[in-house]
Amino acid sequence: MRSITILGATGSIGASTLDLVRRNPDAWKVEALTANCSAQELARLAREFGAKLAVVGDESCLGELREALSGTDIETAGGTKALCEAAARPVDMTVAAIVGCAGLGPVMAAVERGGTIALANKEALVSAGEVLTAAVAKHGATLLPTDSEHNAIFQCLAGNDLKEVARITLTASGGPLRTWSDEQLRAATPEQAVAHPNWSMGAKISVDSATMMNKGLEFIEAHHLFPVGLGKLRIVVHPQSVIHSMVEYRDRSTLAQLGPSDMRVPIASCLAWPQRMETPLEPLDLASIGELTFFPPDETRFPATRIARESIEAGGAAPAILNAANEVAVAAFLDSQIGFMAITAVAEDTLARYSAPAPRTLEDVLGIDAEARAFARRSLESNACV
Ligand code: NDP
Repeated sequence: MRSITILGATGSIGASTLDLVRRNPDAWKVEALTANCSAQELARLAREFGAKLAVVGDESCLGELREALSGTDIETAGGTKALCEAAARPVDMTVAAIVGCAGLGPVMAAVERGGTIALANKEALVSAGEVLTAAVAKHGATLLPTDSEHNAIFQCLAGNDLKEVARITLTASGGPLRTWSDEQLRAATPEQAVAHPNWSMGAKISVDSATMMNKGLEFIEAHHLFPVGLGKLRIVVHPQSVIHSMVEYRDRSTLAQLGPSDMRVPIASCLAWPQRMETPLEPLDLASIGELTFFPPDETRFPATRIARESIEAGGAAPAILNAANEVAVAAFLDSQIGFMAITAVAEDTLARYSAPAPRTLEDVLGIDAEARAFARRSLESNACV
C-alpha cells in the first residue's frame, strides 16, 4: 500500500483523484486531505477514506471541521501553516490540487521533503518557476505533471532526450466562447464562461479556459517543466480536446498523446507512474469522433496567450505578477464586478504598472504576489467598463 496526501481534496481534481483511490482501496492509504473552507465535504471525505489528518486553509472553518469529525480519531488543523505542515508529512504521493497561488506554500513544503508530487496546481509553477524548480533539484523531489497537456508531453518525452526535441505543441480547446464575436465576448456572463464544452473543472480554471489565459499559464508551466527554450513552444487550437499535446523531434517525427477529456486519465498516469493503472473510462472511439481540427490561436480576440508569452520572455517577477492579477480579475468577473474582456485588460494593466526584482525565495514570490494583487485591485475600477 502506498500513502497519499491530497491538497485541495474537495475540488474537481481532488474528486477525480479520490474516485481513482476509491476504486483501488487496496493500493492506497490516505494520510491527509485538505480544503479551504468546505468543512462538511472535507469531513465526509476524511471519514470515507480513513484519513489521518484533515486541514482547512481558512482557520475560521476549523470549528466546523472539528465538530463534523467529533467522535473520530482523525486529527484536524486549520490555517496556512497547517496546510504546509500537512504537505510536509512523509507520503509516497502528494497530489497538489489547490487552486491558485495559495497552493504554492504547500507545494514547496512537499518539495522540501523531497517528495513525489502530482502537480495540478499550475499557478504555483507560474508564480515561482525558477524558485520552485531550483528547490526540486536541491531536494531531489519529483514533479509529475498532472495538467493534461503537460502530462501528455511528459508521456511523449518518455525515453527521449530534450536535446532531440524540435518543438512542443500545447493543444487548446479554445474554451466555450471560441467562436464568439467581440460584442458577444464583452457581454459574456460568468455562467457562459464556465460552461466548458469538453472538460468539467473548477470555476477559476474554467474562466481561464474561456479567456485562453489557461493556455498562457500552461505555456509558462511548460517552459519550466520542459526547458527546450521558448522558441520551441507553441500553441494550437484543437476544439475536440482529443490530442492533449504533442512533441516533434528533430527527425520530424511527432508523438501525440490522445485520450478522453477526463482528468482521471492524466491523474492515473501520475498515480501509477512509472507503471499504468485501470481507469473506468470508455476506450477512445476515433471513428465516432470522426474529425480532428486545428487552428492558430486568435490573439486579437483572446490576447491572454500573447500576454503570458511576453511575461515569460520578460522573466523575473512578470509571471508572478501576471498570475496574481489574473486571479484577482477572474474572482472579480465571477463576482460580476467586471466584464469578460476586462480580465485580460486588468492583467496587462497590472504588468504595465508594477514591476519587481526577480524573486529568489518563496517569501519573495509571496511578497510580489501580494503587491501585484493590490495593484490589480486598483486596476479593476479603471477597467470595469472594458
Ligand atoms: P477547484 O476550485 O474545483 O478546487 C480547488 C481546491 O482548492 C478545493 O479543495 C478548495 O477548497 C481548495 N482551495 C481553494 N482556495 C484555497 C486556499 N486559499 N487555501 C487552501 N485551499 C484552497 O479547482 P480545480 O480542482 O479545478 O483545480 C485545482 C488546480 O488544478 C488548479 O490550479 C487548476 O488550474 C489545476 N487544474 C485543474 C484541472 C481540472 O480539470 N479541474 C485541469 C488541469 C489543472 P474548498 O472546497 O474549501 O474551496
